[in-house]
Amino acid sequence: MSRTTVVLFTRDLRVRDHPALADACRNSGRVVPLFVLDEKILRGPFASPNRGMFLGEALADLRESLRERGGDLLVRAGDPVEEALRVACEVGAERVVCSADVTAFARRRERRLDRACEEAGLELGLFPGVTVVPAGDLRTGGGGHHQVFTPYWRAWEAATWRSVVRAPERVEVPTGLAPGSLPSRTDLTCGGETSPNLPKGGESAARARLDAYARQRTDAGSLDRENLAADQTTRLSPYLHFGCVSPLTVATRLRGSAEDVVRQLCWRDFYHQVTACFPGIARQDLRPRRREWVSDAGDAIEAWRAGRTGVPIVDAGMRQLLAEGWMHNRARLVVGSFLTKQLGVDWRVGAAHFFRWLVDGDVANNAGNWQWVAGTGNDTRPNRVLNPLRQAARFDPDGDYVRRYVPELAGIDGAAVHEPWKLPEDVRRGLDYPELLIDPVPRRTG
Ligand SMILES: Cc1cc2nc3c(=O)[nH]c(=O)nc-3n(C[C@H](O)[C@H](O)[C@H](O)COP(=O)(O)OP(=O)(O)OC[C@H]3O[C@@H](n4cnc5c(N)ncnc54)[C@H](O)[C@@H]3O)c2cc1C
Repeated sequence: MSRTTVVLFTRDLRVRDHPALADACRNSGRVVPLFVLDEKILRGPFASPNRGMFLGEALADLRESLRERGGDLLVRAGDPVEEALRVACEVGAERVVCSADVTAFARRRERRLDRACEEAGLELGLFPGVTVVPAGDLRTGGGGHHQVFTPYWRAWEAATWRSVVRAPERVEVPTGLAPGSLPSRTDLTCGGETSPNLPKGGESAARARLDAYARQRTDAGSLDRENLAADQTTRLSPYLHFGCVSPLTVATRLRGSAEDVVRQLCWRDFYHQVTACFPGIARQDLRPRRREWVSDAGDAIEAWRAGRTGVPIVDAGMRQLLAEGWMHNRARLVVGSFLTKQLGVDWRVGAAHFFRWLVDGDVANNAGNWQWVAGTGNDTRPNRVLNPLRQAARFDPDGDYVRRYVPELAGIDGAAVHEPWKLPEDVRRGLDYPELLIDPVPRRTG
């Protein structure tokens, strides 16, 4: 038990159900929890000030939890592989451990870490924890990854899940190490604009959210997850993205009482195993169907981004994204279909905007879902177009969601808010709300 292990945290910012941390604490006398602020993530093409803010809070919370257990979180800046090796040499560690991840970026980092550990004579341990079922565990009859959700869901439900692991009681960190400062707001946002109503990051907030949701489900039984104004989904996605709670913890807790949420977690696993096998998912079409995207969309893209298309249900969704760094799944489907199928704009444009603002912005889930919506991915009906007016009537029947996010329309009663162009001319003129960008009724609908 005299060995020393470095635990490299990436997007698994928790102490509970963290197999790599638990293993290190069980099998090593000394443990060095380490997080490295990677400039490539904070300033690269996938940077997002909203996620930066959430990350800062998650790190502060993780440090607090480790300190309560007698340990600490070392914070360094630079290249995670170089810094992990530097710290390992400094403390004379024999081993580095981390959670295995699926994206091209994470896999490259793991390969580099593997080579660097080998050269330095260190052992590298990769552990599960980012998904419920590890990507690659469930294969089709032919041995490939699953490209269709329903058979994956059947296999996923029948699979044996690992057990949730407890948080370590003690984390023994070697003495004399400089902990390093937590990043400042400027480090985390690079001066970029953030949304005014962001959720609070960290494992404590994640646990509180999960507890509240589980209680709500026990009291209410089923909730209306599709109703936009009711807002009754878990809102756990940012916490799952940063690993402030493990997906296995959520799935185990809600199995039997909230099967609809468990199924959504299966969608998350599904896109993660697709990403592991198709690392180009963020850029390349999963199933090229020779879609022709418009080359000059004029002002349409900017109007869509700003929530000023003149279609209230679309504008409400886009404004929720800017205000909260989050959007209801139903609204994501509506605005995604509107951009790709009605405006004919390449899904990558939409995915990039989502990635700029979403606190839960995640390569696998974002690209996977955008490709589903655009018909280049795993949808078995790739030509489906969502009619925004029908969607509004079904999922925001009283218009409350639109009134919440589009203040110009707050004075219009009931469902009339969804079609302001039908209002009497004098009312319309007083609204200061944009004219329709295009006819909101698509030619083909699903
Ligand atoms: C165009 C588009 C882009 C999207 N981009 C992202 C993204 O970047 N990051 C992200 O986490 N989700 C993304 N989603 C999926 C989904 O909209 C969000 O996960 C969900 O709205 C988060 O809210 P919630 O936590 O309340 O979800 P709940 O309904 O409570 O579901 C629980 C969890 O299951 C997972 N989940 C739910 N729906 C999906 C789904 N369709 N695909 C994969 N996982 C799912 C999430 O981790 C979620 O937190 C996208 C969906 C669309 C249509």
